[in-house]
Amino acid sequence: RAKDSGRNAIQLFRTTMQEAASARLRLENDLRLALARGEFELHFQPQVDARDGKVVGAEALLRWQHPQLGPQSPAQFIQVLEESGLIVEVGGWVLAEACHFCAQLLADGLVDGERFSLCVNISPRQFRQHDFVERVAGSLRDSQLPNAMLKLEITEGIVIQNIDDTVGKMLRLKKHGVSFAMDDFGTGYSSLTYLKRLPVDMLKIDQSFVRDATNDPNDAEIIRAIVAMARSLGLALIAEGVEQQDQLDFLQAQGCHLYQGYLFSRPLPQEAFRDLLGIQHG
Ligand code: C2E
Ligand code: MG
Ligand code: MG
Ligand code: MG
Repeated sequence: RAKDSGRNAIQLFRTTMQEAASARLRLENDLRLALARGEFELHFQPQVDARDGKVVGAEALLRWQHPQLGPQSPAQFIQVLEESGLIVEVGGWVLAEACHFCAQLLADGLVDGERFSLCVNISPRQFRQHDFVERVAGSLRDSQLPNAMLKLEITEGIVIQNIDDTVGKMLRLKKHGVSFAMDDFGTGYSSLTYLKRLPVDMLKIDQSFVRDATNDPNDAEIIRAIVAMARSLGLALIAEGVEQQDQLDFLQAQGCHLYQGYLFSRPLPQEAFRDLLGIQHG
């Protein structure tokens, strides 16, 4: 009987594996169709300077409305896009759409071209495309967004691939006026040597540190170290995932002034984001 139940367990395991594999294939297929069907949209989350309350930027965040399953979490489907290579096409759409939206905000006088940055997430696979620089330049040209308004968010994962190629592409984009933020800073490779070589302009303190900053001394210490590092390397700094006033108070006391988090605003659909800017202006 032990043998039987062992066999049953293996059978169940196989079935579960097969189900997982076919669910994954279905997901990949649905993602393949999503772009053509117009199921993707971008939401925008404001970035705020706490010193004067001004919205100084926005991060474009991909949203997918699955026709049957409803809204899907990017945390889950971005990885499938990345692994299947679909991220190249979808990422191209994100860049074009985000630049177009931001150019419209500028044309409508809702943002200050000198002070507002549009932040777009770039996945490692997308960044590794041989014509990545040209693609970015193309989106800027098509949208007529001033190049200096675009900031690309990269992660430490990009660096591990090929540092010379990474630095080379970044420098070419910087020549165009584009800037860079290191996303989720502190969670990945975080080598000081790499950070010194990479021409990034801004560090984004990962939300995992912010979450426990006020009750875990280790996280508080990591934040202090990141603030010190940003200062000594002359990099701008923004804290991600700020939800509570005490987190904000702590970060401000450390000398961090830019914020992105639910305390200020959730990511908003385009119309709602425009309304928010309109209120700030009016
Ligand atoms: P990320 O780039 O680190 O983006 C910040 C994430 O934190 C977003 O999750 C945002 O909604 C969430 N967030 C912001 N403030 C708070 C807060 O106060 N509390 C909490 N709990 N969360 C907060 P989202 O939109 O689910 O995106 C998850 C990740 O998916 C992003 O992390 C990014 O890595 C990836 N992603 C999203 N859009 C794109 C895209 O267009 N391209 C690529 N390559 N990746 C994307
Ligand atoms: Mg990001
Ligand atoms: Mg992040
Ligand atoms: Mg992240």
